[in-house]
Amino acid sequence: MKRHEFDFDNYFKRYPDLNGFYGRYGGCYVSDELKEAMQEINDAYFTICKSTRFIAELRRIRKDFQGRPTPISHLERLSNKYGNVQIYVKREDLNHTGAHKLNHCMGEALLAKYMGKKKVIAETGAGQHGVALATAAAYFGLECDIYMGKTDIEKQAPNVSRMKLLGANVIEVTEGLASLKEAVDAAFKAYVDDYKNCIYCIGSVVGPHPFPMMVRDFQMIVGVEARQQFFDMTGELPDAVVACVGGGSNSIGIFSGFLADPVEIYGVEPLGRGEKIGDHAASLTYGEEGIMHGFNSIMLKDEKGEAAPVYSIASGLDYPSSGPEHAFLKDIGRVKYDVVTDEESLDAFYELSRLEGIIPAIESAHAVAYAIKLAKKMKKGSILVNLSGRGDKDMDYIIEKYGVR
Ligand SMILES: *Cc1c(COP(=O)(O)O)cnc(C)c1O
Repeated sequence: MKRHEFDFDNYFKRYPDLNGFYGRYGGCYVSDELKEAMQEINDAYFTICKSTRFIAELRRIRKDFQGRPTPISHLERLSNKYGNVQIYVKREDLNHTGAHKLNHCMGEALLAKYMGKKKVIAETGAGQHGVALATAAAYFGLECDIYMGKTDIEKQAPNVSRMKLLGANVIEVTEGLASLKEAVDAAFKAYVDDYKNCIYCIGSVVGPHPFPMMVRDFQMIVGVEARQQFFDMTGELPDAVVACVGGGSNSIGIFSGFLADPVEIYGVEPLGRGEKIGDHAASLTYGEEGIMHGFNSIMLKDEKGEAAPVYSIASGLDYPSSGPEHAFLKDIGRVKYDVVTDEESLDAFYELSRLEGIIPAIESAHAVAYAIKLAKKMKKGSILVNLSGRGDKDMDYIIEKYGVR
């Protein structure tokens, strides 16, 4: 691949712009009250997070508490099975708490501490973000309120226990379908009522500006480490980089390291059970432009033009939109977005476990499945996959439903 014709000089300074736009996507579509709160976070971000003290403290935490840098592993047996293409994984499953989410939660909670806030607030769906934020809050001695739908609380008992053990208050939301969307609404409402004392910590590169930018910047460490490590290991850059896309935080993290390089980049969305609306959550592939949760991006809509119902075996991927920067990177043609079904991701889940001794999160298995397909097509070269998390959380469910294949 040649260098992309889009000019990536100073990309991270130019995008987003001052109003939080990546081209036409992004922005801050919220009530005036919430706008004020977002402005406060934005101002704090540019003064505090760019200070040498903040940067030094975050660097120390990443090393001593999170266990960074996470390594890159060469998947020799898997690569050999599918031909000559060499597949590598960036091991975010080895990050403390077992996934990449702690990268932005530690950053957000450290910002809360520097801003003098007493409490962090967030929503959670499957509980992964809630657990990561509860961990960060415990580390910094902050109060932590996690809003979670009643339906999800019943489905995700182990994560509810983890959050409670870590000292968080898990607040049950019973409105509507009592799931992620209602939890977001309830958490934002609680935040507006008390924003002087607390800070909202979003779980991905979504939501109103400045969240997509902040979360990207905290996740960028994945791409920065990976680029150097891959080069040290092989003397080259990878030919392709692959990551799964839910809201889009682990993917933007690793992509950030390679945007200006002659490297093909692929974002993998969940096709679930198939192409019918309600059977998948492939928002960038099948969606259209629209605003939800305070930002403009590409989203899946129902016939009324509202957020469509979504499904994926991977609960971390079932969100009807994706971060605005992904919509932008798709439009300018820098990143290709494609899909993988439940079935294909399950095959990769079993295969990575058996051949490499790594049980991946079912979200991350989507990226591995895509890398296998790509390896068959490419014939030669190398692929670097972001292994966003470990599969302990999925193991029991998958064995009960699909057995040991
Ligand atoms: C939450 C989660 C995802 C999806 O979120 P992104 O913001 O798209 O990264 C992917 N993998 C794991 C392990 C997760 O916990």
